[in-house]
Amino acid sequence: MTRIYPHFIVAKFGGTSVADFDAMNRSASIVLADPNVRLVVLSASAGVTNLLVELSEGLESRQQLDKLETLRTIQYNIISRLKQPTVISKEIDNLLDNIGHLAQTAATSPSAALSDELVSHGELMSSLLFTEVLREREAEASWFDARSVIRTDDTYGCAAPDIDALATLAETHLRPRLEQAIMITQGFIGRDAQGHTTTLGRGGSDYTASLLGEALNAGRVDIWTDVAGIYTTDPRIAPNAKRIDRISFSEASDMAAYGAKVLHPATLLPAMRKNIPVFVGSSKNTAAGGTLVCSTTENPPRYRAVAVRRKQTLLRLHSLDAQPSCHFLAQMFALLARHSVAADLVTTSENSIALALDSTHATSGEDHTLTTSLFTELSSHCRVEVETGLALVTLVGNQLTQASGVFKDVFAWLEEHAVRMVCHGASSNNLCFLLPADEADSAIKALHLQLFES
Ligand code: ASP
Ligand code: MG
Repeated sequence: MTRIYPHFIVAKFGGTSVADFDAMNRSASIVLADPNVRLVVLSASAGVTNLLVELSEGLESRQQLDKLETLRTIQYNIISRLKQPTVISKEIDNLLDNIGHLAQTAATSPSAALSDELVSHGELMSSLLFTEVLREREAEASWFDARSVIRTDDTYGCAAPDIDALATLAETHLRPRLEQAIMITQGFIGRDAQGHTTTLGRGGSDYTASLLGEALNAGRVDIWTDVAGIYTTDPRIAPNAKRIDRISFSEASDMAAYGAKVLHPATLLPAMRKNIPVFVGSSKNTAAGGTLVCSTTENPPRYRAVAVRRKQTLLRLHSLDAQPSCHFLAQMFALLARHSVAADLVTTSENSIALALDSTHATSGEDHTLTTSLFTELSSHCRVEVETGLALVTLVGNQLTQASGVFKDVFAWLEEHAVRMVCHGASSNNLCFLLPADEADSAIKALHLQLFES
């Protein structure tokens, strides 16, 4: 069969790009401007997921009603601007009623599965409304339930998708429909083997977009957000940050993994596997251009960007044996693995280990990484020191381990700061520092000034 859109584009719109009717209309113009955009992945309207997370954590009834009212207002501000509001209002009302019931249950018996069910309503509503906005602009648009192709495990709040199942299901259920209509679906949500709704972790809509792009061999994935691309650092911290026009997959995925907020950290993996370029731009200002993430860039620079990840915890484990044992490391890592704790930064000395723990991904906002049971078990094997309130500042670049002079400069620029831990060597493309969270901004400013502003 010949395909009409062999290099079709997946376009993903974030919360601010579907925040209200005007934003949805701008995003609709982007979709309609290019006939190759056949699949649209949406976040919940800005603020909605946060409200739903609060409801899922169990609120007393007065507060529940307040949040529900705010949610209703956000939806109805959009509905009221439609030419034919009644086409969709009934469905949105049903979803709002559902949210009310689930919030009541959450107040008495909260659970992770219930949270995901509740939180998924944000994307369900925004995708229904956006489909209607497109239809009112005479487009052939069709709503699609992402859960019918995104199968996941049952790690609620941060579920892992089944890539093989997705490829088969998307080929069967989604591919044929792309030829007939622009398909509008939800980011962030999936379904486990028992049929329960799951979520992929906060900000997971980007990940959905690239997973679908991978499954269907898209020609490009466009991520529309409120910033015109990826910058050398967060411009709110360093106002002279520069937009990067073209960046390699590995540089951009390091930036995302180490905290750059533009993309969900897992987003680029599916795109890299199929070599699908990812464009990042602003739906408010398409003329401003954006960043293209692709497999190669010419003359990769030594220093590319500075990223920051907050809410980090430093764990120092000291062996109780005077004689260092070669089993200590193995024992400690096995213990952490049993508690599903992934330490992405590690340094060791003869009888101590230092680990940086990250708690920025899961749907719930709390730092659940260091549970009491983990702490108790660790304490029975070693002396445990915990320091919270830290930030990880990462310098992303190319071949840093091959270059001389990197340390001389960087340490001089950071001399004012009490650096708790340094990681360098495992990856040749980054250099990480753990320091007190309240020093992060000034450390970033200092690094950025020297590396990118002179
Ligand atoms: N709505 C979800 C969130 O706010 C997913 C996303 O926007 O990517 O985290
Ligand atoms: Mg996002």
